[in-house]
Amino acid sequence: MAESFEQAATELAALRKQINGWRDEYYTRDAPSVTDAEYDQKYRRLEELEAQFPELVTSDSPTQLVGDAVLPDFGKVEHPVPMLSMGDVFSLEELGGWIDHLNADAERDLEYNVELKIDGLSLALEYTDGKLVRASTRGNGRIGEDVTANVRQIADVPQTLPAPLTIEVRGECYMPKAAFAALNKQREADGETTFANPRNAAAGSLRQLDAQITKKRQLATFIYTLMDPASFGVTTQKEAIAYMASLGFATNPSSQALSNLTEIDEYITKYTADRDALSYGIDGIVLKVNDLHLQEELGATVKVPRWEIAYKFPPEESATVVRDIEWTVGRTGVVTPTAVMDPVQLAGTTVSRATLHNPDFIAAKDIRIGDTVDLHKAGDIIPEVARVVLSKRPADSVPYVAPTNCPSCTAKLVHIEDEVALRCINPLCPAQVQEQLTHFASRPAMNIDGLGPKIIAQLQAKHLVADVADLYTLTADDLAQLDKFKEKSINNLLHSIAGSRDNSLERLLTGLGIRHVGAKAAAVLAEHFGDIDTLMAADEETVAAVDGVGPIIARTLTQYLARPETRELIEQLRASGVNLRYNGQVAPVATDSPVSGKTVVITGKFAEWSRSDLTNRLKELGAKVTGSVSKKTDLLIAGTDAGSKLTKAQNLGTQIMTESELQTNLFGDSPKS
Ligand code: NAD
Repeated sequence: MAESFEQAATELAALRKQINGWRDEYYTRDAPSVTDAEYDQKYRRLEELEAQFPELVTSDSPTQLVGDAVLPDFGKVEHPVPMLSMGDVFSLEELGGWIDHLNADAERDLEYNVELKIDGLSLALEYTDGKLVRASTRGNGRIGEDVTANVRQIADVPQTLPAPLTIEVRGECYMPKAAFAALNKQREADGETTFANPRNAAAGSLRQLDAQITKKRQLATFIYTLMDPASFGVTTQKEAIAYMASLGFATNPSSQALSNLTEIDEYITKYTADRDALSYGIDGIVLKVNDLHLQEELGATVKVPRWEIAYKFPPEESATVVRDIEWTVGRTGVVTPTAVMDPVQLAGTTVSRATLHNPDFIAAKDIRIGDTVDLHKAGDIIPEVARVVLSKRPADSVPYVAPTNCPSCTAKLVHIEDEVALRCINPLCPAQVQEQLTHFASRPAMNIDGLGPKIIAQLQAKHLVADVADLYTLTADDLAQLDKFKEKSINNLLHSIAGSRDNSLERLLTGLGIRHVGAKAAAVLAEHFGDIDTLMAADEETVAAVDGVGPIIARTLTQYLARPETRELIEQLRASGVNLRYNGQVAPVATDSPVSGKTVVITGKFAEWSRSDLTNRLKELGAKVTGSVSKKTDLLIAGTDAGSKLTKAQNLGTQIMTESELQTNLFGDSPKS
């Protein structure tokens, strides 16, 4: 409690300044510097002071505003029904108090739809006559950002509804944990700042000027709000979710209508324990009055609805001691620090290492060797230092100084442009070359069985390989120099290396480790251009025009291919007999088949075909095979157990073929021939 009005006014001003700074980092830059728990604690203190001295509440206080920024790069969308924030509680006791209060007002035990609180950002989707016409963010609650083009790239958002409805739904756009971990790993390797949590990653990925980037980020949605439910005959939140699911929206399967605190408590206990196992992040549980009519009666404050509340999970943190900071050199030369710590249990796993991202992160948190640190898991998966426990800092502690030279080759480390990362720019740096070779041999790339990091390190140490082309000149005598390499292991490795010569071009493109060119982009490029020479002759504009390749990939790829070292490497690979062509269906595509030039979707299970064989066969017949049914779909091939795609095609009046019709009409009754 503040002792006097003056003291409260001073503390409030300081708190608002601090909280507004954090909000700017979080909502505008998608880059918070403190954990949500720390933010929530200060925010609570602000609420407490304002409750004690209501005359000190100002209309621009964070307690009166819905936070998200509206970036000027996007069109503005007005929300006639505001998109609000949500009240929150941090203990079961508080939650019980909130329920008691509502039940007492209603003079009965109300039913609550209990849902998972998805760690993402709110999204509104508007459909006219069954077509997605607009998607927008929450923004400041009244005005959001128009993100329609980007949302069209989110796979689970229906572009067309099974019926020509005019409807608005709202929900959460999130980044699955696996995509979040992969994105951060990639960003770290590229020397870029990492996202602190999946919510910031989702927000940063949705608010992109290049929709192709959004597409690559693998965002997903859970839709939970039906606007104007009465006009669809829907009277409860539970029904609303079921109705939206029937329209093809992704809805979360875990919600339950419950009415007493014991059941709600059990639900919370279950998901507190199970949250690590979910494929998406949740930061709490949401309780909503199930009766939608009552929801409307209860209404909202300027900031939060009165009929719903979030129970936020307590932060999962553990303290341990930093014993060392190790620096490792990645494939692209980025040098990344890792804290080596005393092992500690954190959210179900033993943790002894945590990435420290880059020198700025270490400096901002002033992490030193010997410090006790609080660890948390960013996005429920990645162990990260939340803060140093200053009270436990040893008296003789000294600030940590980042290395100035590469731990592998001792070349001077540099910062490129405005990158936060330190980089080794020596192209011959053994650690970088080792990473490049490991990547080249990995399964999604050249898939050279038996060629792992340990063998690569030995090959390098014995000066047998300095780049990927050298792999193809290795002899049995060379391999005989490796530890425990006898005739069988020598033959096996030579055999796998030789086998990789015949790989299709996309594997080589993946293996070269060109920035932004992953396996998917490589496949699209290989299929489109057919061989490396055609690809090398293409200019940036031509590459960018390929469906599925954005301007960023086009730029980095053409720059990479234009480099003299790249040209030399390609010539060496060519001379060693490495295939530089696409082995897929560049081979003649039929132009006279009934599906030639048609857009075809496959759904369900087939007796005679695997999905990929069927896709390939249809492509040979000149069809374009796509993943979702839309107005542009010419034909749906439906096997058994076909689900929403079939319903959608039926509603759109799309031509539908069963497996037996397919055999007779298209393949002349000769499965897989
Ligand atoms: P919130 O995230 O606490 O809750 C409201 C949001 O929850 C809704 O807008 C909706 O998008 C989402 N949600 C997820 N699942 C839902 C479901 N099943 N039903 C309904 N809504 C669901 O509130 P907020 O205003 O968006 O953000 C405030 C919070 O953001 C703070 O409490 C804090 O945790 C965090 N924050 C952190 C910092 C920082 O610096 N670390 C800064 C600002 C805000």
